[in-house]
Amino acid sequence: MSESSAAAAEAVAARFEELYGSAPDGVWAAPGRVNLIGEHTDYNDGFVMPFALPHTAVAAVSRRDDGVLRLHSADIGGPVVELTVDGLVPESDKRWTAYPAGVVWALREAGHAVVTGADIHLASTVPAGAGLSSSAALEVVVALALNDLFGLGLRGWQLARLSQRAENVYVGAPVGIMDQTASACCEAGHALFLDTRDLSQRQIPFDLAAEGMRLLVVDTQVKHSHSEGEYGKRREGCEKGAALLGVDALRDVPHEDLDAALARLGDDEEVRRLVRHVVTEDHRVEQVVSLLESGDTRAIGPLLIEGHASLRDDFRVSCPELDLVVDTAVTAGALGARMTGGGFGGSAIVLTEEADVPAVTKAVEEAFATAGFKTPRVFEAVPSAGARRVR
Ligand code: ADP
Ligand code: MG
Repeated sequence: MSESSAAAAEAVAARFEELYGSAPDGVWAAPGRVNLIGEHTDYNDGFVMPFALPHTAVAAVSRRDDGVLRLHSADIGGPVVELTVDGLVPESDKRWTAYPAGVVWALREAGHAVVTGADIHLASTVPAGAGLSSSAALEVVVALALNDLFGLGLRGWQLARLSQRAENVYVGAPVGIMDQTASACCEAGHALFLDTRDLSQRQIPFDLAAEGMRLLVVDTQVKHSHSEGEYGKRREGCEKGAALLGVDALRDVPHEDLDAALARLGDDEEVRRLVRHVVTEDHRVEQVVSLLESGDTRAIGPLLIEGHASLRDDFRVSCPELDLVVDTAVTAGALGARMTGGGFGGSAIVLTEEADVPAVTKAVEEAFATAGFKTPRVFEAVPSAGARRVR
């Protein structure tokens, strides 16, 4: 554990004791993530390739056996929120507390009635709403803490599934399985190649620093308000495409059959574009995996750029800020760049030679200033560890 994460665990434990009057049973951490490649594929049963950020949600937790659930976030403040585990009702809570409460609800709904309450205080360094999965970090850290404290014996992928269920049903957000799996299962120095159909996974070595490269995250600090409705429309469009092609999910359309599939879709241009993105994106993930496994890391740059073009032109989930990051970074010499996460704002990633980091960063910042956009937040993303107990 790094010094800063030890200090974070210490601070969260100390605040827990102030709030609840005794030391926590333990402290856990779960990271946010960026997705290297494989966007909008997870609800099409396809491939994704996220890695964990050093940024984490850190939760101090004690178990309770009286049916009471108490929640507090250092980042929200205000008084402790007190709920009862029997009184948790899906989609009844529009506050942040729906995420941790939803995990308790999902565990109990899955038959883990032994989860009889908890005191929780947490703090997170994952920026919220930046497309870096602050919500999954929050869910997974709570799921892991309760798994340990109540001896549930669940594995990472199971905690991810239950966290996703919490977000889908309890919070009411129709998200795929990528974010929670990344937070629960990633390993330091690796990206996670995940098949979202059967949840099989492979850790792919991804140590850019050793090869003289860096991966920057550019948080545009914008979130366009229509994003949720548009996400739902893309999901529906993908389902329509699968139905028209007679497959369970677009994952079942082989890349070599793409042209024939597009021809079968006739003049439904909207669905054709969605299908083309998903099928080519799954293929790009497989190409990135084989390039990384053969040590040809720099060659993934063009695939990132292609992936962005596909999200911009075919899937249509980019926005001027994300396009500006990608165009500017590539012009300034980056090896590759793409939007990451759901789109309509949030963050982009930039793959660059170490020596070009200052020039690329400066170019992006200047382009944003010239365009009159909010100043972006740029930081380096080092592939970090997944969820773990830290104290
Ligand atoms: P993302 O997961 O991309 O960051 P979401 O909209 O899915 O964005 O999740 C953000 C929400 O998660 C916030 O609005 C808040 O409800 C909750 N959240 C994230 N971080 C914290 C935190 N540190 N404390 C309390 N709630 C948080
Ligand atoms: Mg989220």
